[in-house]
Amino acid sequence: MENLEKLLEYQKIDIELRKVLDEIERSDDSKKLEQAKTEFNNAKATVTETEKAAESIISFYNNALAFMEECDKRTGELAEKMDKTEDIDEQRELAAQIEKIRDKLSELERKLSERSDRADKAIEAYRSGQERGKKMRAVYNNIKERLAQFKKEKEPKINELTKKLDAIKPSIPADVFEIYKALTSERKYPAFVPAIDAGDKKHFRCFCGIELSQKTQSELLDKGRCRCENCRRIIYK
Ligand SMILES: [Zn+2]
Repeated sequence: MENLEKLLEYQKIDIELRKVLDEIERSDDSKKLEQAKTEFNNAKATVTETEKAAESIISFYNNALAFMEECDKRTGELAEKMDKTEDIDEQRELAAQIEKIRDKLSELERKLSERSDRADKAIEAYRSGQERGKKMRAVYNNIKERLAQFKKEKEPKINELTKKLDAIKPSIPADVFEIYKALTSERKYPAFVPAIDAGDKKHFRCFCGIELSQKTQSELLDKGRCRCENCRRIIYK
């Protein structure tokens, strides 16, 4: 197989680089950072929701206030009319109208006390959401800083390995390299594996354990490489 040594050298360095990157990705802080972010967003959503609830409560109160003022005015007018009239029927009619307004007001009063409970709850949820958000932002920033520090420490190593890889890359046939990238993007490390003697010196197995078919094995013997029919790794001899 063409430039096999270069390929294996590339793979060796690439695996080393993968380990460093994995260390960063799998570090506890990465996970904690994600968690803090999620919790912060949840708290933010609570604040937004309760703000909306508060808006609707405030507009309800304003409407109620306007209605009460209107009732007050109307009651005053009716009472005045009642004072002026001597007609018993008209007085009765006016009293009935005042009574109706009173009923409406007491209905409103009942609704207002209900809303007051809801308002208290909304305010409480808003406060606790804000507090949680603040706390989570602090946690998030703290972890982010630590993670950045950790990445910074690893940076020289990452750069060094990347440079080495870039230097070797031109020696690898483009088609082989493409397969390598496809396999490693699925985290199939190593992607290039030596054919393993199945024990009888006649048959070969892949890294994944599967024994090569007759057809694949002839390809391996012909070209010096083949693809595993199971895991798609490149097998060399
Ligand atoms: Zn395989």
